[in-house]
Amino acid sequence: EVQIHRVSKSFGALKVLDDISLTVPSGDVTVILGPSGSGKSTLLRSINHLEKVDSGFVTIDGDLLGYREKGDTLYELKEAEILKRRVDVGMVFQTFNLFPHLTVLENVIEAPVTVRRQSKAAATQDALALLARVGLSDKAHAYPRRLSGGQQQRVAIARALALKPKVLLFDEPTSALDPELVGEVLDVIRDLARSGTTMVIVTHEIGFAREVADTVVFMDSGRILEQGPPSQVFTAPKHARTAEFLAKVL
Ligand code: ATP
Ligand code: MG
Repeated sequence: EVQIHRVSKSFGALKVLDDISLTVPSGDVTVILGPSGSGKSTLLRSINHLEKVDSGFVTIDGDLLGYREKGDTLYELKEAEILKRRVDVGMVFQTFNLFPHLTVLENVIEAPVTVRRQSKAAATQDALALLARVGLSDKAHAYPRRLSGGQQQRVAIARALALKPKVLLFDEPTSALDPELVGEVLDVIRDLARSGTTMVIVTHEIGFAREVADTVVFMDSGRILEQGPPSQVFTAPKHARTAEFLAKVL
């Protein structure tokens, strides 16, 4: 379970996250929607402490991620400690961010070997299973530049899964892809949703959201304007802002 508790964040005078609270139960899929600049990416980055929040905190299965608690005060952990805790949170970005000088297989085993200190043999065995799961068994020894965008994004998903995270975050995973490659990436995410992977997904793919989301969250100007099951948010939004946004993206 991911719990975001009263998180706020400003960049200078701009309040990007304004007292956000959100719970993502284990096994659930939460889709975040909202206009550009509403704070969606900043919220995702706050979950794994890539963004240091000004107030509030995030817990993963009850564990604080970037801090330790002493009395009533939170102290930020050292970078090395944060890195260790961050393995609980996998992240997939719009631009796949694979290591260009490593093969697909090497990309997937890199973190398990260096961060989790898994043996290369064990990591390789896991990685091959993950590559099979995302339909890329035949590409294990290829370099990223030889793959299509959709294939690269599926490698990025396998790489995120390799650390066995408790939650997987996706920031517009298909928006950099040619339209004909979107489906193969959504298929992989759909399969993860069916198998009970806890996920938070920022996407403008409304049809997909309707299908996989347990909860849809609509953000505007750093606030959660409304949240609910897709059947409610998409068919009977409570807020005029939500209806207006949906009319544009649908
Ligand atoms: P998009 O749909 O375009 O990806 P978003 O909802 O993900 O938008 P964020 O990227 O979270 O929005 O940005 C929210 C606001 O914070 C924007 O106004 C953005 O310009 C600003 N912002 C984000 N990161 C920084 C930063 N490092 N420094 C200053 N301002 C920032
Ligand atoms: Mg964004």
